[in-house]
Amino acid sequence: MKDDCNPNDVSLLSVEQALRQIHHAIYPVSDQEKLPLSKAFGRILAEPVTSPIDIPPNRVASMDGYALSSNDIIDKASFSLTNVGISWAGKPFAGNIKSGQCVRILTGAVLPNDADSVVMQEIVAVKGEHVVFPPQTQGLQNIRAAGSDIMAGSELLAAGKMINACECALLASAGIHEVAVKRKLNLAFLSTGNELTAIGTPLEKGHIYDSNRYALAGLLKDERFNVSDLGVIGDDKARLQQVLVETSHRYDAIITTGGASVGDADYIHDILEHCGQVNLWKIAMKPGKPLIFGKMNECLLFGLSGNPVSAIVMFQQIVHPALQYLSGAAPRKTLRLKATCICKLKKSPGRQEYQRGILTQLDNGEFVVDSAGRQDSHQLSALSKANCYIVLPAECNGIEAGQLVVVEPMTSKI
Ligand code: AMP
Ligand code: MG
Repeated sequence: MKDDCNPNDVSLLSVEQALRQIHHAIYPVSDQEKLPLSKAFGRILAEPVTSPIDIPPNRVASMDGYALSSNDIIDKASFSLTNVGISWAGKPFAGNIKSGQCVRILTGAVLPNDADSVVMQEIVAVKGEHVVFPPQTQGLQNIRAAGSDIMAGSELLAAGKMINACECALLASAGIHEVAVKRKLNLAFLSTGNELTAIGTPLEKGHIYDSNRYALAGLLKDERFNVSDLGVIGDDKARLQQVLVETSHRYDAIITTGGASVGDADYIHDILEHCGQVNLWKIAMKPGKPLIFGKMNECLLFGLSGNPVSAIVMFQQIVHPALQYLSGAAPRKTLRLKATCICKLKKSPGRQEYQRGILTQLDNGEFVVDSAGRQDSHQLSALSKANCYIVLPAECNGIEAGQLVVVEPMTSKI
């Protein structure tokens, strides 16, 4: 892949190649821990879970009404049955019903043995102990068979599944109170640059506030991660090397921003080359390009550009899928849609671009996308306005208004 900024540079990997190489260099964590279900939200199942019981466990009514045998239904005429009791949810009717009898039944209550139908209460007339059913009463309705959701012994959830609210409910419905989940990942991040000032302190001339650590703290909020903020380290190679080497023993991955390129104060690549291994460096993506990925001891290191938009986009496009895989989660494809672009977009061939866009769905269901504004890699304001990335392939030479483009919705913003 060649780059428009540097046409002689043939070392750039496509985004897909880079993701594949990173994938090959990573082994998902194998350690697991047992947790009560109440503490397992957001974690990754380490083993498949089978249901020890049928769900629902019994044959129950799906609405309030009267339970009867379909043999007692007189198809074309109305008919009357004698109500001989009541089946409550949690307190089934104790006896059997005979021909000519029915039982009052409530949603979730167990059907008496000889009943196979529930008729909704709204269509019957109750006269003392007699219940009158109308012509064309339907039998074999309004019943949930035992195991009609899950059969005992069948798989409830596969290993690698993230336990979200729905999965918590599914596991609880099978009575499962403890699950084996993958251990949490221990992650750290730091910023590098002599110009970085902590918020809450006045800015000196030539300095800027460190925003990347705030971005990363937010991007790494996840039940699967224990996250440490290692602070800011100046452009001091020896100090940076010392911190990375020392901390690499404690973390599964460290994410740095700044100093990842080839400038005079860019040390991350050299440090990793001397104290670990560099697996890849440059990716044909924009914003982005310098992304150092390698290992120091067993710790993965992701060295991102310091440009705030680049750091966020590279995290979302490259680092997040890698952490997803490292955490033991089953792979997921990012949702992409086609939308009509309503403006002109500038682009030169060379790198796959993630332009910041605003996606809207029209009343007729069609998707249209507009640019979120200036696309320079320091312009956080456009990224903040955006609710999608407009993904332009490397070879694309610009877009005219009215052309179809591929967009990736930022699902947390839509
Ligand atoms: P670098 O990747 O170190 O060459 O930095 C690229 C650009 O990003 C420079 O303009 C830096 O001042 C800026 N930058 C680096 N680190 C940060 C940070 N933590 N927060 C905000 N901007 C940063
Ligand atoms: Mg720098």
